[in-house]
Amino acid sequence: MDYFLTEQQQMIVDIARQLTDEKIIPHRAELDEQHQFPREILKQMAQADLFGVPIPEAYGGFGGGCLDIALTVEQFGRGCIGVGTAFAANFLGVYPIIIAGSEAMKEKYLPDVATGKKFGAFGLTEANAGSDASGIQTTAVLDGDHWVLNGTKQWITNGGEAQIYAVVAITDRSRGPRGASILVVEEGDPGFSCGPKEKKMGIRASSTTELIFKDCRIPADRLVGRQGTGFITVMKTLDLSRPGIGALGVGLAQGALDEAARYAKQRQQFGKPIIAFQAVQHMLADMAIGVESARALVYAAARHIDAHPKEMSKVSAMCKAYATDVAMKVATDAVQVMGGYGYMCEYPVEKMMRDAKILQIYEGTNQIQRNVIGQELNKEYS
Ligand SMILES: Cc1cc2nc3c(=O)[nH]c(=O)nc-3n(C[C@H](O)[C@H](O)[C@H](O)COP(=O)(O)OP(=O)(O)OC[C@H]3O[C@@H](n4cnc5c(N)ncnc54)[C@H](O)[C@@H]3O)c2cc1C
Repeated sequence: MDYFLTEQQQMIVDIARQLTDEKIIPHRAELDEQHQFPREILKQMAQADLFGVPIPEAYGGFGGGCLDIALTVEQFGRGCIGVGTAFAANFLGVYPIIIAGSEAMKEKYLPDVATGKKFGAFGLTEANAGSDASGIQTTAVLDGDHWVLNGTKQWITNGGEAQIYAVVAITDRSRGPRGASILVVEEGDPGFSCGPKEKKMGIRASSTTELIFKDCRIPADRLVGRQGTGFITVMKTLDLSRPGIGALGVGLAQGALDEAARYAKQRQQFGKPIIAFQAVQHMLADMAIGVESARALVYAAARHIDAHPKEMSKVSAMCKAYATDVAMKVATDAVQVMGGYGYMCEYPVEKMMRDAKILQIYEGTNQIQRNVIGQELNKEYS
């Protein structure tokens, strides 16, 4: 379908598509098997200027919006959402600075992010605070002209690989939800370390670690925005980022459909290609309907967010939940279309099915997205 992209958007798609076909797809199985972080591929993304897509022009980026980044990660998702997650989570770590950082902070960090010299991560989740982020225990206490952080973040994407960590910590427990703040911790800050890489079901090319703070001292000017506005910035960050997760889902689903349709045309049973059987055709048709409707919703939501940045939450949650549910279903059906071969590691749909599951869990589970949508509907119809 024609989504009437601008010339610049089409150019971004073409660059990301070529990079996916030439650099991601040939290496994805190996990265998965070896749980290997895709440093070389990220370098190539940087050389292609793709890290600059959502960074404002004043700081060396393209000044692109939510749709531009969705178009980019959709292509990476078609190849490997482990690689796509590493790329997308970088911006999750950087959005708080774009949204609420001081001018000096933007000047310090964003140009290096735009060129891919520095890489971001976002630390919110803790062992006892997942969906309920208000339960975080990590603290940051002001001591003279430094913040002192203590606590442990869990399952942080790009942990150990990033140089810039946007960390959510309690700065005043007595103020409840208004007592959290975001602080930038840098690789090498005293008292900061990352745990070992987690072993995961999928997205094994991405790195997931703990962030450990033991009397970690950072300069006072690393506070992002005003003290106590941490959760507001977290919500805006996630609203802005979730269409990108939806787009990873669209890409993964497209990749799974491509594999299944190609296979169905060449696999012969009962003397014909299995695509000749209506049962198989209907599965492929439902997969195609899912992919295109998910793409349409992600693009529409991203365009809406670019035009109406104050109305993000509902559309962002809708496209994340829908497109990632589609991704899970299409990847599962691709395995079904390919039968036993689909279950074997030598075919990519096996990895796609394992990978797809995370899309329904991270950046807020799809149950939480439905809670967000439900709460917004409750307000609209009151
Ligand atoms: C590979 C990976 C990468 C991640 N990367 C990051 C990262 O970079 N930064 C970061 O901060 N976090 C990250 N996370 C954490 C992720 O965002 C959380 O796992 C997620 O938000 C869910 O939290 P939880 O796992 O603690 O599940 P829980 O909150 O314990 O939920 C368990 C189940 O209960 C359901 N549930 C809970 N509360 C409700 C409710 N109110 N209504 C309905 N259902 C509910 C959930 O939907 C889920 O099905 C990552 C996680 C993984 C696995």
